[in-house]
Amino acid sequence: MIKNIKDYIMPTYGERKLEFKEGSGCYLISTDNKKYLDFGGGIAVNSLGHCHPKLVNALQEQASKLWHTSNLYYSSLQENYAEQLCKNTFADKVFFTNSGVEAIEAGIKVVRSFHSYHKNFHKKNIITFEGAFHGRTFAALSAQQNKKYFEGFEPLMPGFLKVPFNDLINFKKNIDENIGAVLLEPIQGEGGIRPFDLKFIEEVRKICDKNNILFFLDEVQSGFGRSGKLFSYEWTKIEPDILASAKGIASGFPFGACLSTEKACIGMTKGKHGSTYGGNPLAISVATEVIEIISNKNFLNSVDKNARYFWRKLKNIEKKFDEIIEVRGAGLLLGIKVKSDNIIISNLLTENGLLNVPANDSVIRLAPPLIITESEIDEALKIIEKVFGKINE
Ligand SMILES: *Cc1c(COP(=O)(O)O)cnc(C)c1O
Repeated sequence: MIKNIKDYIMPTYGERKLEFKEGSGCYLISTDNKKYLDFGGGIAVNSLGHCHPKLVNALQEQASKLWHTSNLYYSSLQENYAEQLCKNTFADKVFFTNSGVEAIEAGIKVVRSFHSYHKNFHKKNIITFEGAFHGRTFAALSAQQNKKYFEGFEPLMPGFLKVPFNDLINFKKNIDENIGAVLLEPIQGEGGIRPFDLKFIEEVRKICDKNNILFFLDEVQSGFGRSGKLFSYEWTKIEPDILASAKGIASGFPFGACLSTEKACIGMTKGKHGSTYGGNPLAISVATEVIEIISNKNFLNSVDKNARYFWRKLKNIEKKFDEIIEVRGAGLLLGIKVKSDNIIISNLLTENGLLNVPANDSVIRLAPPLIITESEIDEALKIIEKVFGKINE
């Protein structure tokens, strides 16, 4: 607990009682010298844990060479990294950002510029889904249309149509000539760790193809190895036209990217978009190391293996405790839906040394670094069993 809490920062994050002074691998040390196992992972960000030696080294080396030149100049660092992203995915082109929501904004601009380029000026509407979270800018607030996030900030932007989660019949009813894109998180994160059915995603792709609609995935949280594949769409038979990536992409260094096929971003020509910092040399130096490690097949296989182990064990715990309604999620993005207040249980887990992040729909989110080992998973399971055991008493 922190003694002298100051309050110069706008209190949008509420009360914050824990402060950390250092981290290593999957552990964090608080300023009062307690050790925590980090299953929040900085909200699914610290994909390679804390202070990974290769990332520290890359950042330090770059920091002593060059910090920033602006996007007025060619950058072979950027081009080489973009090549890596494209070679490992569906994409042909990339736009760099500093955060997830900027990658969403860039994607929305790709959509609008595509239909405008082809003179289909009516195709302004984007379909989104109940429970979605795409970030906090006005476009993202308008896309997700969730009162919890937009209340008091109206008017929202027009051009978004929210439909029920995973419901193909309702989805089809909303398709008309004015739809320009579908924006979907393959695994809803903030919404409560809810994966869409793979079949649903594949059907949506087919409907998009038939109706000249772009398919835009938000993999800000579900991407970069979290599902056991580099991007979670790889579990389906389809590919998107556009994809937003961030969070795990640079393991904690602020960075994001909007990926696109060449066809979809045909309207993104000179002057159409920009960012002062996007693709900054420091961010790229870290991201280059991250993609090299995470795109490795052996690495992804070990994520998948550990995730399946964690899932089986959590399912056993689910059987034991009435308090748990459901264990859900995919890969190392798992959620425990509980009957009582998820915030109280989340705090109890934290007090017992296991960091986690609450999500909507009464869910406790577990998103450990992808380098987590079986014995660290066992340590987390022990704390989870202990806490639910106490609540059940
Ligand atoms: C976190 C998140 C965002 C927003 O990312 P920021 O980096 O906070 O702007 C967008 N979409 C999803 C799915 C997210 O989880």
